[in-house]
Amino acid sequence: MAADPRRAVPRTDALLAEPRIAAATERLGRSVVKAAVGAAQDRARRGEIAPAEVADAAARALAGPATTLRPVLNATGVVVHTNLGRAPLSAAAQAALVTAAGYVDVEYDLATGRRATRGRGALAALLATVPGAGDALVVNNGAAALVLAAIALARGREMVISRGELVEIGDGFRLPDLLVATGARIREVGTTNRTMLGDYADAIGPDTAFVLKVHPANFRVEGFTTAVDVRALATLGAPVVVDVGSGLLRPDPLLPAEPTVAGTLRAGAVLVTASGDKLLGGPQAGLVLGDAAMVAQLRRHPLARALRADKLTLAALEATLRGPTPPVRAAVGADVELLRARATTLAGELAAAGVDAVAVPSDGAVGGGGAPGLMLPGAAVSLPAAYAGRLRTGDPAVVGRVERGRCLLDLRCVPAAADVALLAAVRAVQPAGPEC
Ligand SMILES: *Cc1c(COP(=O)(O)O)cnc(C)c1O
Repeated sequence: MAADPRRAVPRTDALLAEPRIAAATERLGRSVVKAAVGAAQDRARRGEIAPAEVADAAARALAGPATTLRPVLNATGVVVHTNLGRAPLSAAAQAALVTAAGYVDVEYDLATGRRATRGRGALAALLATVPGAGDALVVNNGAAALVLAAIALARGREMVISRGELVEIGDGFRLPDLLVATGARIREVGTTNRTMLGDYADAIGPDTAFVLKVHPANFRVEGFTTAVDVRALATLGAPVVVDVGSGLLRPDPLLPAEPTVAGTLRAGAVLVTASGDKLLGGPQAGLVLGDAAMVAQLRRHPLARALRADKLTLAALEATLRGPTPPVRAAVGADVELLRARATTLAGELAAAGVDAVAVPSDGAVGGGGAPGLMLPGAAVSLPAAYAGRLRTGDPAVVGRVERGRCLLDLRCVPAAADVALLAAVRAVQPAGPEC
């Protein structure tokens, strides 16, 4: 008769001294390692693994990354996918994150040994990209940029905004609620579908802090509609602040209908706010560019301290602006013939392995980040729908799109270098059952 396995479970101190586990302590910290060791011991006590396997089980559990966030192959075809972390960073931006992880001169002048402008490298890169801006400021995200503009310029006063632009941006986040929370008042003008220049003119008065224009980033109004452009608004005499959302700094031939920060300033806006992790393809950040005196007013506001960007963001933003084509732009501009060829190759290899896979056309989208309604023709590998759930929980996790009873793996946002991993992930899925 076997001895009680609970007696043979290795002791904690012996396990912690095991070389692989000791190395993990350096990397991940003692509490994470002790938890993994404890979990492996518990499995042995329950009889799920043999006592001799405890060290292996703990070491395996500790071999992974130091975060519970799991990398995902985005096979949805949606380039800026908020639930999947929006913009994947370029190699240059990733390298900048590593540099910025240690002590860095983010707010320090090494030549004089004195305090210096925080994130001046990122600010210089922004101003080099948008020379028409008098100054720039980087905050935590696009919403923070807007909040700061409202609170610093319009607290206790009015922001004049079209009813057609009082939008919900996602996840229950409503722009008017956010703006009102700053203590500024919203003066609504026009109607949902039509707002005229005269509507703005009638509303502007001594209480007006600025006219706010919000780019509808996630929907389109079609039919009997009128909106007033920035150039016309700028003739009314009140400052015009524009939230372009998408973060496109300069015109991009791939996205001709998207407003840009540079173009909006040229049209007469005093301030433009935008996100860093949408079409710009950088880290989460809020950008404010425009009139130097107004930017200074925002920078000096006490709340600016609470909304400021961290050194990692500033480093990744600068590298995104100065560096190679960001993955977001590469995905938006992906060549449809290349996507088709990759889909055909992948589907062919899978079919040869007995998987019900075919290459199909697939329309991608820019996503909540901009260009609403714009279809991006591409290609996907079509699999039985039952693959969807199993691929999501596989390694690497693959998130596709289920459409008309099939699981589509759109290749637009999957780097070509990841095709091998994608193939392996599909192959690793057990022959599909009836449900996922
Ligand atoms: C995305 C978006 C925001 C919010 O920006 P975050 O960076 O997500 O905070 C605000 N306004 C518009 C028009 C947007 O598209």
